[in-house]
Amino acid sequence: MTVVRTLDTDTIERIAAGEVVTRPANVVTELVENALDAAATRISITVENGGLDRIQVSDDGHGMDEADAALAVERHTTSKIEDASDVDSVETLGFRGEALPSIAAVARLELTTKPSGSVGGTRVTVDEDKTVEPAGHGVGTTVEVTELFARLPARRAALGSSTQEFSHISRAVSRYALCHPDVRFRLVHDGNTVLSTPGTGRTDAILSVYDRSVAGQSTEFASEHETNEGVLRVEGSLVYPAVTRSKPTHVYTAVNGRALSETTIRNATIAGYGSLLASDRYPIAVVGVTLPPECVDVNVHPAKESVRFTDEQRVATAVERAVSETLSGTDLSRSAEFSF
Ligand code: ADP
Ligand code: MG
Repeated sequence: MTVVRTLDTDTIERIAAGEVVTRPANVVTELVENALDAAATRISITVENGGLDRIQVSDDGHGMDEADAALAVERHTTSKIEDASDVDSVETLGFRGEALPSIAAVARLELTTKPSGSVGGTRVTVDEDKTVEPAGHGVGTTVEVTELFARLPARRAALGSSTQEFSHISRAVSRYALCHPDVRFRLVHDGNTVLSTPGTGRTDAILSVYDRSVAGQSTEFASEHETNEGVLRVEGSLVYPAVTRSKPTHVYTAVNGRALSETTIRNATIAGYGSLLASDRYPIAVVGVTLPPECVDVNVHPAKESVRFTDEQRVATAVERAVSETLSGTDLSRSAEFSF
């Protein structure tokens, strides 16, 4: 005979955490999103062994006082929404209060933080149990994650090699660096600086992720469309169709500042290049869409990897038109100027 049981809280949390944090890159994404939500202008990501040994994300955002820092690592604690009605209009990247506790459920987590106007900082360590102690730190927050999946050997064994896991991290950081070009990002792997953006705009960010031959052949654009719900904004950078790739993964997409692989925007971007692309070739482009939060549901995936638009066709049309109009209005033989 089968018996239906209610699981204990510990087990429930472990299962839920496994959905948010499936690999080191998820940890990096969640911590980077928290740094952006804290209005950081510099975000430094240091990883060891593809993130398997250590992930550290440091920001100069608004930091937390002792009480908030102690609470932040608990399940379902957030400063970003107050009740269910806010879920439909969320403007921040986070809102579920799940990232820090989920990471802490599958790793050792140490958070050191200081808000502005405070003399000292706080360190919260979550291992077997939680400790809160005073600690030195500049204004901002540093989260260090070690022993990832140490208590989940099957999950740990299912991960790729250090190189594979790092490539997921590198891609995640590149996406964020390209869609938040005014923030300075630095990514260090095993002591080597792999990526560093100056925080001075999109063309410079593309220069950091790719190189001069690519960034020099790109143009920035922004367009706005009035809708009944408010303004739909499409902006980004388009690399000229003379420079292409064999895979569509170089089309970076973002929705309301959230960097994610979004098919509607990606396909519309490719469609916007139209016949300028040879068959089986794909562009390098960064396209961000900003729309009223009511027009997009970000709560459809535990790791927030996809979104749903209330009017997908409108987004597709706006993106395709913005891309094709930008390209047809650009002298595709002229190189971009650099600010440095
Ligand atoms: P969420 O981002 O969904 O609110 P998290 O578990 O990621 O949930 O974070 C919980 C809370 O901790 C956040 O709402 C925020 O108040 C605080 N927090 C997390 N990371 C940072 C950071 N880097 N800087 C300042 N506050 C942070
Ligand atoms: Mg968060």
